Amino acid sequence: MTARTRVADPVFTESIEDPKSAFDWLASHVAGFDHFIDGKFQTPSGTTDRIEVKNPATGQVLATIPRGTQQDVDAAVEAATRAFQTWSKLSGFERAKYIYAIARSIREQARLFALLETLDNGKPIRESRDADIPLVVRHFEHHAGRAQTLRADHPNKKPIGVVGQVIPWNFSLLMAAWKLGVALATGNTVVLKTADLTPLTGMLLAEIFIDVGLPAGVVNIVNGDGSTGDMLVRHSGVGKIAFTGSTPVGKKIRVATAGSGKGLTMEAGGKSPFIVCEGADLHGAVEGIINGIFFNKGEVCCAGSRLLVQESIAPELIALLKKRMSRLRVGNPLDKTIDIGAMNSQTQFDKVTRLIACGEEEGCTKWQPDGCMLDSTANGFFIAPTIFTNVSPTSTIAREEIFGPVLVIMTFREVDEAVELANNTRYGLAASVWSQCMDVAFDIASRLEAGTVWINCTNEFDAAVEFGGRRESGWGSEGGDRGMLAYLTDAEAIRDYARKPDPADEAPVFDPPLLHRTRRIVAGGALKRPDADRCYRLLAADGTFLCNVGEVNRKDVRNAVEAAAKALLGWRGKTGHNRAQILRFFAENLCDARHNIVENLRRQTGISLRQANEEFNASIEALFWWAAYADRNAGTVSRVCAPRLVTTLCEPIGVIGIRACDELPLLGFVSPMAAAIAQGNTVVILAGKHALTALDIVPITLCSDVPPGVINILTPQDSNKAAIMLAGKYDDVSAFWYLGRSWDTSRQIEIVSADILKRTWVSGGVSLNWFDHESLSGRVLTEATNPKAIWVPFGA
Ligand code: NDP
Repeated sequence: MTARTRVADPVFTESIEDPKSAFDWLASHVAGFDHFIDGKFQTPSGTTDRIEVKNPATGQVLATIPRGTQQDVDAAVEAATRAFQTWSKLSGFERAKYIYAIARSIREQARLFALLETLDNGKPIRESRDADIPLVVRHFEHHAGRAQTLRADHPNKKPIGVVGQVIPWNFSLLMAAWKLGVALATGNTVVLKTADLTPLTGMLLAEIFIDVGLPAGVVNIVNGDGSTGDMLVRHSGVGKIAFTGSTPVGKKIRVATAGSGKGLTMEAGGKSPFIVCEGADLHGAVEGIINGIFFNKGEVCCAGSRLLVQESIAPELIALLKKRMSRLRVGNPLDKTIDIGAMNSQTQFDKVTRLIACGEEEGCTKWQPDGCMLDSTANGFFIAPTIFTNVSPTSTIAREEIFGPVLVIMTFREVDEAVELANNTRYGLAASVWSQCMDVAFDIASRLEAGTVWINCTNEFDAAVEFGGRRESGWGSEGGDRGMLAYLTDAEAIRDYARKPDPADEAPVFDPPLLHRTRRIVAGGALKRPDADRCYRLLAADGTFLCNVGEVNRKDVRNAVEAAAKALLGWRGKTGHNRAQILRFFAENLCDARHNIVENLRRQTGISLRQANEEFNASIEALFWWAAYADRNAGTVSRVCAPRLVTTLCEPIGVIGIRACDELPLLGFVSPMAAAIAQGNTVVILAGKHALTALDIVPITLCSDVPPGVINILTPQDSNKAAIMLAGKYDDVSAFWYLGRSWDTSRQIEIVSADILKRTWVSGGVSLNWFDHESLSGRVLTEATNPKAIWVPFGA
């Protein structure tokens, strides 16, 4: 019997949601939709090119949308730019009132929204009604509150300006809500590009914006395909891009925005593990698996698509799973009794079908329940729920994101093996862990490379909690505090720092050093002569010779990265208290070297004694400042709508490569270094153009109890070139901070990091004022950590 044959089921009765209101609404737009620009629907400019929007369950054409042109995108950005002048100046409460009105209006039209989403996307009506819409409302309502408390929460921040948002087809309304709520709360204005496969709920949302009187231009919606998205992403009037979609498109956007100075957050694909340990509640786990992989037909970025089950319980769990799957029904998405709807498009159907065939060709064992496909699947893109056993970690289906109702099952013996298998992926979006033993569950959760970990639950989301990925799942968060920060920028006072000459101060005094010293770099906790026996001459501000500095080559860089990667486990395992002690000891030892360091600062830069002392004192303060945050910034606990305890931990990112700042050779070196290691990262730091100060710091790292490999200091002659190499060539470097002043190097770093979607923080040619570490803290701590939201059932 094939999966397509329907078994007579005496209990089964259809219960179809009446789609009349949706078809009436579509009939009122029979001429096709326009773009929503400047508060009204506007006829597309310069083209009559239209895209058909189809119901994937039947093939019926529902509507047409225009393919947005450059003129349309320009008009939308111009409208948003005008609106920003007034919208950003409204009080938080004024903005909150609009956002709240949007939330309530969606609630009032919940049925129409749910119907349209189901017709457009193919998802079961139960899911659009009970999962998507409530979460959409929650996002707007929560962010109405955030608008009001914005100034209290983030006093030194301001909105970015016009933000461009690009969303996918799998949760079109929900993704719009995730992005719009926060943008409006923070005082930004928006140009949103819907997915061409699912634009309908975006159009209804636009009508709501008119109804609630949202000022013209605050939100603009441009329809179109990837080419329209590309125009938006590249538009010079846009200050930030928020993207959700596939990893390959994410990489293109990273390259397209490189060097533009635009903020970028990216939610991309995933291959999330679902781990079930001995002693877990197997019936609960089976329900979790069903939800994890078959919710929204598996077209979910964080779908639990890799089941890792402990060997001893695998036969029982798989038997229970098959039994439960035998009760699943695939059919008309408007039927309230069905579990799995239609794949969103022919392309998606073909891709999933191809990967299922590939699994079989590679020798994995396929299983689909008999008779799950109802008659209503005859004309649409339906796929039966599928599991694969006999899967190896190298199988294509275990590595590639399938984005459909397909689960691969692998077993493990020990918890360590489960963690290794789970992390054996280029993605890092989410994970689910099932164990009745909380210490086992938390131990696994702490070791997983994922932005969200659900313990004994799955697919939980809330506007108050950060959601975002690591590795090739992207970076940046949506929801929670970090979601807000991604839409805010620093006040001018801490940007564009350049030290002014101070003629009132006494002239610098240059004392030649008494003894010749051969300067060394530090890698792996030891002073090293650079590998090649070559050096370059470092000159003082007045052009006289200061010292020879050994040239750094590829091997030195590789050794430093290896040392930093090796030191990571031990360093992140230390307590925050211990890391703070080491930073304070570092400050003490720096004080002992004060005279030498201050003199060398003056020699290199030509600044006055007062200015050099000021920078020195600020560096000591910065070390204490970041030490204070070593045992703080642990994370947050969020209030969510479900009975769950959600703790969002701030975890170290890993090895951070840093190209230090030129304007402040001491402070701009010590402060970012301390911030990074205080949070449990290890660093490879490239000195800026005043390398002597970096060389002065080298011995301090060795006498301050800093474990070998935690701080690695290199002094290449061309540190911009070395920065590009470090950011682009070393996968072990998980993030790169470029604090130098070259715009072009900033751009190139963003380009070379796109290959593995490495997190970058670049200056864009503007130096930060490291004297104001207080104002910089939010940004720096965000750049130094990855959030991990851990969800645990809690209370009634
Ligand atoms: P795509 O990446 O193809 O598309 C996402 C959006 O980007 C669409 O609006 C698309 O337009 C647009 N787009 C396509 N090319 C470009 C471009 N060059 N420049 C700018 N915009 C562009 O993803 P899908 O829509 O196919 O969605 C499926 C993928 O999204 C899956 O891989 C899934 O993992 C991921 N995803 C991730 C989520 C997360 O939270 N991490 C959530 C949802 C999905 P158009 O479609 O109109 O051509």
